[in-house]
Amino acid sequence: MIFDLTGEQEMIQQMTRDFAERHLKPVAEELDRTKAFPFENLKKLAQLGLMGMNISVDYGGSDVGVIAYSLAITEIGKACAATGVTTSVTNMVAEVIQEFATEAIKKEHLPKICDGTYPAGSFALTEPSAGSDAASIRATAVKDGNGYRINGTKTMITSGEHSGITVVWAVTDKSARKGKGISAFVVEKGREGFHVGKNEEKLGQRASTTNELIFEECWVPDENLLGKEGDGFKIAMMELDGGRIGIGSLALGIGFAAIEYATEYVKNREQFGKPLSNFQAIQWMIADSYTELEAARFLILRAAYLKENGRKFTKEASMAKVFASEAARGVTIRSVQMLGGYGYTKDYPVERFLRDVIVTTLYEGTSEVQRMVIAREILRGG
Ligand SMILES: Cc1cc2nc3c(=O)[nH]c(=O)nc-3n(C[C@H](O)[C@H](O)[C@H](O)COP(=O)(O)OP(=O)(O)OC[C@H]3O[C@@H](n4cnc5c(N)ncnc54)[C@H](O)[C@@H]3O)c2cc1C
Repeated sequence: MIFDLTGEQEMIQQMTRDFAERHLKPVAEELDRTKAFPFENLKKLAQLGLMGMNISVDYGGSDVGVIAYSLAITEIGKACAATGVTTSVTNMVAEVIQEFATEAIKKEHLPKICDGTYPAGSFALTEPSAGSDAASIRATAVKDGNGYRINGTKTMITSGEHSGITVVWAVTDKSARKGKGISAFVVEKGREGFHVGKNEEKLGQRASTTNELIFEECWVPDENLLGKEGDGFKIAMMELDGGRIGIGSLALGIGFAAIEYATEYVKNREQFGKPLSNFQAIQWMIADSYTELEAARFLILRAAYLKENGRKFTKEASMAKVFASEAARGVTIRSVQMLGGYGYTKDYPVERFLRDVIVTTLYEGTSEVQRMVIAREILRGG
């Protein structure tokens, strides 16, 4: 088993780390406070090739692989979680399009995602009455001439109002068994009948917008269908497997940001005449936190390795996501504890890290859903 990164992976990790330190970290607090969408950050990340990391160079991507993608998302998430989630979802949307769209759609939209012409891409699956149970969505797409007419409401869609392109799931066959009559479509920004609703007021990752999207008689041509009619649910689950590597990587970045900050703090803060770092109780918090995050890193990189090599990775991606997000949450709570009362104030960034990390156990499948996936795969003999 080889644990070393390739030269290219190390270079991408270092480049992203340098960029994130210089450009993302300094504005993260302000973006959180003002809820301003990070247009500028995203444009620069696209220029660095970080928006189409698994997209072929033929469509403007950098095609550097899943491990490099994971490393980059961790570095971005460490500096600014809101920018991290936007980057992760946009990469996932590009991958769905690359895998399932017609050649014309790929040629039209992928270069614009990769070069930052589109600030972001969106993945619109969740509905008010269909969250964890995504197969129960109610939005419909009815055949109409050379296309489909979409009706329905999506909720909590990352970057919804700013995306150049949105992948939307809708029921095309109501008579089919649950999950079998769903199809996926790309919907371009500005299509008639495609409206943006509210932007959620959130606890953390506030500069990432989370929108309601409303489709009213929104017509799209046949070529906007991804894959075949009825394949939509399968496509969503496949892409979410990859997305979970991204969210696990993001959580890992937030966890490291918190414990690195807290570790520096306890070296400098004195109580009882000594630095806090001299006390064993504090040292154990540091030891446990780094151990848990390193374990998470290995699970994430294993899932990324399997995906990169075309192997099955559903169970491993869920294991990585649930373990990394829960470890990062625990580490971040511990980091607040290490700062004492100051950790709870906005004068220090660990309170933001805590608000930012919470959602990583919720979106792209809650921890409970990850455990359902893992158990299902094991019981099937996988
Ligand atoms: C900031 C943010 C961004 C998001 N971005 C997107 C996006 O870009 N695209 C998108 O499509 N969606 C997005 N979502 C939606 C997200 O994926 C859902 O919130 C998530 O899947 C959970 O669905 P729900 O909120 O309806 O919770 P519910 O499904 O109602 O679940 C509530 C609780 O019950 C638990 N639960 C549910 N079923 C079971 C079960 N069978 N066994 C045990 N426990 C169960 C859940 O784990 C959870 O703890 C986003 C959400 C947030 C908060």
